[in-house]
This record gives sequence, C-alpha cells and structure tokens, in this order.
Amino acid sequence: MYDYLIVGAGLFGATFAYEASRDGKKCLVIDRRPHAGGNVRCESVEGINVHRYGPHIFHTDDRGIWEYMNRFAEFNRYTNAPLANYRGELYNLPFNMNTFYRLWGTASPAAARAEMERQRVPAAEPRNLEEQALSLVGRDIYEKLIKGYTEKQWGRKCSELPAFIIRRIPLRFSFDNSYFSDRYQGVPIGGYNRIIEGMLEKCDLRLGTDYFSDRDAYGESAAKTVYTGMIDEYYGHMFGGLEYRSLVFETEVMDMPDFQGNAVVNYTSAETPYTRIIEHKHFEFGTQEKTVITREYPKAWAAGDEPYYPVNDAKNAAVYGKYLALAEREEDVFFGGRLGSYRYLDMWQVVSEALRLYERLR
Ligand code: FAD
Repeated sequence: MYDYLIVGAGLFGATFAYEASRDGKKCLVIDRRPHAGGNVRCESVEGINVHRYGPHIFHTDDRGIWEYMNRFAEFNRYTNAPLANYRGELYNLPFNMNTFYRLWGTASPAAARAEMERQRVPAAEPRNLEEQALSLVGRDIYEKLIKGYTEKQWGRKCSELPAFIIRRIPLRFSFDNSYFSDRYQGVPIGGYNRIIEGMLEKCDLRLGTDYFSDRDAYGESAAKTVYTGMIDEYYGHMFGGLEYRSLVFETEVMDMPDFQGNAVVNYTSAETPYTRIIEHKHFEFGTQEKTVITREYPKAWAAGDEPYYPVNDAKNAAVYGKYLALAEREEDVFFGGRLGSYRYLDMWQVVSEALRLYERLR
C-alpha cells in the first residue's frame, strides 16, 4: 500500500513526489506518456536539448523557489529576448524602445509615447480584443505585431475575441529586450530531465500507464491520490467538456550551425501558418555543427490532442466551477497542476503550489 498515488509525472507531480518521498512516504507515480517530465521534457537531438513540448524558460521573482530548483540542476544565464518577424521585418519583443525605434524612428521615450498617443483609438468600453488593443497601443503595433499572431493563436478574429484576453499590454519605454522582468531566470544546464529524475529518484514510477485504464485499482493502491490530469476527464465530463487550445510541433534538423540567431522568433503576420520558430541550441548557447528548429502551429483541441492552454472565458469558468465544487468535497483526492486546476501556470507557480499542497497534507 502506498501513501500517495500521483497521477502525472510533470513538474507538479514530481515536486510533490519528491517532498513526500524525502519525508519517508511511499509514492507511486504514473504517467500515460512514455516518459516523465510532462511538458518540460527534453529530448537530445544532434546533441541539442530539444524542448519537446514548447520552449521552457524558468523565471521567478521568488528566491526560495529559485534556490529550490537549483538543488536539482545548475541554471545558465539564458535571458529570453524574443523577436517578431512581420513579413521579413524584425522587431524586438516585448514592446520596448528598440521596437518603437524600428517602427517609427523615435529615439527618445517622450517621442515614442507621443507617437503611440497619436495612433491610439480610445474606447471607453472596448467591445472586443481589436478595440482593446487599438485603444492601448494604436494601429501600427496592433496591425504588425498583435493581430495576425493573436488570430492564429486563438483561431478567431480579434474583432470576435473578448477584450479581457489582453487587459494590459506590457510596454517598456527603455531599451530592455528581456521578456521577463523576474529577478531570476535561466535554463537548466543539460536540460530539464535531470531535474525530474532527481525529484522522482525515490519513487516507484510507471510510464505508459493511464489512470483511467483501471482507476479503481490505482485508487485503492494508495491512501491518498494527487491528480494532475484534466479535471473534467476525472469526472467523466459530467458537466460537459472544458475547452483547450492545442499545438502541433514540427521539428527539423538543419545542416547549418545557426538558423535564426535567436532561440525564439514569433511570426506575427496572418500569412505564415505557424506562430513561432524555436531554435533550441540557443537556450544553452550550443556550438554544435547542426541546429534543430521547431515550428509551432496552434490548433483547436480535440480528444487525443495534448491540451496545452485552458480557454479561460466565462463559459468554461462556469463549467470548471462545477467540477471544482466536486473536487473540494473529495477527502482523499487532491487536484493540482495546470490541468487539475484548469489554469495556465508558469513552472515556478506549479512548483510553489505542489510544495504548498504537501505542506497542507503532511
Ligand atoms: P504537465 O507537465 O502537463 O504534467 C501533467 C502530466 O499528467 C502529463 O505528463 C500527462 O501525461 C499526465 N497525465 C494526464 N492525465 C493522465 C492520466 N489519466 N493518467 C496518467 N497520466 C496522466 N512555464 C514557464 O515557467 N516558462 C516557460 O517558458 C513556459 N513555456 C511554456 C510553453 C508552452 C508551449 C506551454 C504549453 C507551457 C509553458 N509553460 C512555461 C508552462 C509549463 O509547461 C507548466 O507550468 C508545467 O509544465 C505544468 O506542469 P504540470 O505538472 O502541471 O503539467
């Protein structure tokens, strides 16, 4: 008999399992995928750590979490500074003085603010994302850098998307290209797998194992269950399915040392079907002879696809609320992680929430 059955060997499940097992608890961790790590899984291709489920940069303002992660791996000094490619024109992200200079030739913050103000289309109560973006940043930034990208990401026109999706748009009136403003950021040297392996060292791990293949038996094998899969699936979709957005990753080995000179380049025009190209070697300053790139294509989620992003609109929030009410009544089953709580969570939040859950249960 185990103390804990942990469904999902992603960062939430692995953090929880580490804490429980080092406290002497017996843990069984199962995952339906053939590998541990969930979405932070890396795969070595041509000696390069490929972020198999999208680029993952660890960033946090929480010193405790940063030190916790550094127990498992050393992090490098990678700072995320993505570019946008709009029909061959390159712009720095997030929107900052380099972006404004390239767009308008404005060399001072005052000149950039004045030009943005001139372009803004004020709306007292924006009715959709298009009106919201135009009222916040004006026409050039909206049309070149937001519109096509957002429409590809959500599969709907900006004029049909709710305004709340971009309540605010981060603007920097300095020449700072760093995407995250957190004090701590980096990528683990050697990839994320060693972190997960370190966390799961003392647990029993069964891969390629779906909880629903025999939920009664798995449930009975432990005193308590920590479930990090989709909460609507756990309850047999009894209140209807929650909606997700999915992604298709197309990975290619290129016979050249460097393809784009940067880890992340977003493609912001509607004509390019993918939203970004990731060149993995740049996360670890690789010097290999070849390079590996991944094109990322957003798509609607259908059963069997990976559910990457929850669709946090009013309709889904109401459905999730019903599942949450059931979850809160469970005595021996605890939900966590991005799928268990139907929220987009950064890695540091996932680690922090897993630590808190264990503190509560110990
Ligand atoms: P997951 O990693 O999804 O793990 C859940 C696991 O449960 C999966 O392995 C799944 O197979 C398993 N599972 C589900 N159902 C079952 C079942 N029935 N039986 C058995 N196993 C099951 N965060 C950052 O901080 N920085 C970034 O740069 C960043 N980039 C991202 C890029 C993309 C494209 C995406 C989608 C997310 C990104 N994130 C980033 C968020 C990050 O991926 C998550 O915070 C983190 O991986 C979530 O961990 P988790 O354990 O909650 O979920």
